Amino acid sequence: MTLPDFSASIDPAKLDKLAEVAIKVGLQLQEGQDLVLTAPLAAVPLVRLITAHAYKAGAGVVTTFYSDEETTLSRYRHGHDASFDRASNWLYDGMAKAYENGAARLAIAGDNPMLLASEDPAKVGRANKANSIAYKPALEHISNFDINWNICSYPNPSWAKLVFPDLPIEEAVRKLADAIFAASRVDRDDPIAAWAEHNAELKKRSTWLNGERFSALHFTGPGTDLTVGLADGHEWHGGASTAKNGVTCNPNIPTEEVFTTPHALKVEGHVSSTKPLSHQGTLIDDIRVRFEGGRIVEAKASKGEAVLNRVLDTDDGARRLGEVALVPHSSPISASGVLFYNTLFDENASCHIALGQCYSKCFLDGASLSQDQITAQGGNSSLIHIDWMIGSDKVDINGIRADGSKVPVMRQGEWA
Ligand code: ZN
Ligand code: ZN
Repeated sequence: MTLPDFSASIDPAKLDKLAEVAIKVGLQLQEGQDLVLTAPLAAVPLVRLITAHAYKAGAGVVTTFYSDEETTLSRYRHGHDASFDRASNWLYDGMAKAYENGAARLAIAGDNPMLLASEDPAKVGRANKANSIAYKPALEHISNFDINWNICSYPNPSWAKLVFPDLPIEEAVRKLADAIFAASRVDRDDPIAAWAEHNAELKKRSTWLNGERFSALHFTGPGTDLTVGLADGHEWHGGASTAKNGVTCNPNIPTEEVFTTPHALKVEGHVSSTKPLSHQGTLIDDIRVRFEGGRIVEAKASKGEAVLNRVLDTDDGARRLGEVALVPHSSPISASGVLFYNTLFDENASCHIALGQCYSKCFLDGASLSQDQITAQGGNSSLIHIDWMIGSDKVDINGIRADGSKVPVMRQGEWA
């Protein structure tokens, strides 16, 4: 159910700083550049501020597409069966065209993570698959980092209610807003300087890992003994990076991770999730999977197992890894102790892996590699990219060099 407007609970000055950071740090929107924006209906106050900052920065045209929880549910209530294999291809084709013409992309996250929890998982799965296929040409411009893009978020009341179920709704929205502002570093005096400092710190970590050139990472912890081989010529990234259009942007606000591409054929052992995964309106909890030759051959979950198995059946690449990321357990998001039920936040509280599509920028000279070369070097391809959390203060990680020697990378969830 859509809740009434609680935007009065949100500090307007900090919301404006978030909008400014999204445009100046998140996107580095260029003079004359168009912007494609997507947002939940509740996020109108942030959309308006972002749009104002975009035009002040010289934007060409800003175009916003809204999603609405009630209209999404309407399809599940009244839609005929054939509806669930359809998607708005024309819209995604238009988005792909906009990116080809140089537009930047900004998504405001904040949808109710449990919106579809009580809907038929088969219909949810079919609708997601149809959507993934239609979205692929547009998404490729993003996953190949052709353009500058960013995701930030807005404290939607239905999301706040899930994160703080025991608080009155006004207070839940205020608390979620403050948590978003803190994680996004807009509660500082000079958020733009704070981001420059943070980006420098992440750069230091990725530079060290790139110097080591590990052939694999070995994760051990409760329910976890996993060796993640790294792709040939993999490159670690973190914080700000430069898109193929030459613009240096921060794709995720917040971000605490350094990440790279695993080898799609060289993952062995078993791993357990350390936080629930909220995926397209359903919650998947206590994931336990076993890999052989890079492929998931067994998958269990205490909640949402049927949805998980449908996700894994999307295509062959859905059973293989496309990302491995390191985040210290002491990250500010983890230290807040809040479970956000939102990957943008929860993945930045913990080391994680992602099923599915890899990022071509996570290869040395990635921009010039063909799809065949990326595959030959171990890069995975899939319609999906789903991050889930495997880190905690009980997980240790060793880097394994080509000669088999081991280097401590993390101990009890902290950089060694
Ligand atoms: Zn990640
Ligand atoms: Zn990811």
